[in-house]
Amino acid sequence: MIDFERLRILTESAKYDVSCSSSGSSRRNTKRGLGNAEMGGICHSFTEDGRCISLLKILLTNKCSYDCQYCVNRRSNDVERAEATPEEICELVMSFYRRNMIEGLFLSSAVDQSPDATMEKLLDTVIRLRKLHRFNGYIHLKGIPSADKKLIMRAGEFVDRMSFNIELPSERSLKLLAPQKSKVGILSPMGYMATEKKQALSLKYNKFLPAGQTTQMIVGASPESDGQIIRLTQGLYKKFALKRVYFSSYVPTNEKNALLPTSPVGILREHRLYQVDWLLRFYGFKAEEILDENENLPEGYDPKCHWALKHPEFFPVEINTAPAEVLLRVPGIGFKGAYKIVNARRYGKLDFLDLAKMRIVLKRAINFITCNGKFFGTENQLAVKNTLLLTSTDSVILSQLSMFSNDEIRQSVLQGEI
Ligand code: SF4
Repeated sequence: MIDFERLRILTESAKYDVSCSSSGSSRRNTKRGLGNAEMGGICHSFTEDGRCISLLKILLTNKCSYDCQYCVNRRSNDVERAEATPEEICELVMSFYRRNMIEGLFLSSAVDQSPDATMEKLLDTVIRLRKLHRFNGYIHLKGIPSADKKLIMRAGEFVDRMSFNIELPSERSLKLLAPQKSKVGILSPMGYMATEKKQALSLKYNKFLPAGQTTQMIVGASPESDGQIIRLTQGLYKKFALKRVYFSSYVPTNEKNALLPTSPVGILREHRLYQVDWLLRFYGFKAEEILDENENLPEGYDPKCHWALKHPEFFPVEINTAPAEVLLRVPGIGFKGAYKIVNARRYGKLDFLDLAKMRIVLKRAINFITCNGKFFGTENQLAVKNTLLLTSTDSVILSQLSMFSNDEIRQSVLQGEI
């Protein structure tokens, strides 16, 4: 059985990977309380039907033969090292699962010796779990770039989701900061898995990667603009039918490295990129529409408001007749809001009061809509801009977003709407 010290090292080392929607928290138990919260260890992910499930998030080993400059586990970094055997990981998963502490596993690994040797151990672990231990819970496996195709495809038959991290938004940055990795080594597996998944779906045999594939990109470790990141993201969704592209703001793990920023990038840029990600996936926007001559997203406005301000010719939109895809472009009307409007207007004409009852954010929408031909907004562009601008009290949000410091942001975060 794995000892606590190795468990601590292997779960702590895994916490930088955000492609399973994790969030860490560290809290000691109080007198007569129950339980501690650890930074690493258990994280959360969302299944296809929207359920939030807890996963044991762990590396097989953090002993790495690669030297990616941005990574805490890189060969040249002086950190505690540990490894676990496939059977130890299986025992851990089964014992946590039986105690109802987890519903699945997020398993990754540093590249120990070679990509093939590491991928073989990962494969051995998932096969043991499924066949020997008859574990039917969720498994998200992090694939090893440049590993043999057969190993990767075999793993796809046993796990629910696989991900290969893009890591950096350009080949140039990859060569500079992660010279042992290559664009081909990362993109090729995504390609074969996407083809296999398509075939599996067409045969109605959906056992291959039922939860699809995802990837993660580090933001701010290299000089690429938001525009480059957004175009790449759009291309990845289109070409490989990815379920999600995750963005991870760069956090320095080096004392001093001339190739990397010395301070953390901050969470606002990551948040703006996630907003664009929603616009691409659910709101019918294209990267070219969101980006303008300035390749970086504005900090003061969310990307949908920014688009609306640049396209006054598109507005106002008549709430009672506009198609859903047009409503989705109105600031303050999110995915659920547009659905409610389209549904409700089958029974009668809607007015502003009806919109308020549907929890449409009228403060934002009012300058972009008409109800039965009536317009209650202003045509003063400066006033419109000021309504949409993050106010000075939100300046805290510019550095650290809080779910509970602003009503509008809280609502959009909770509903996943923009
Ligand atoms: S291969 Fe993975 S674990 Fe190893 S240094 Fe690079 S990013 Fe870190």
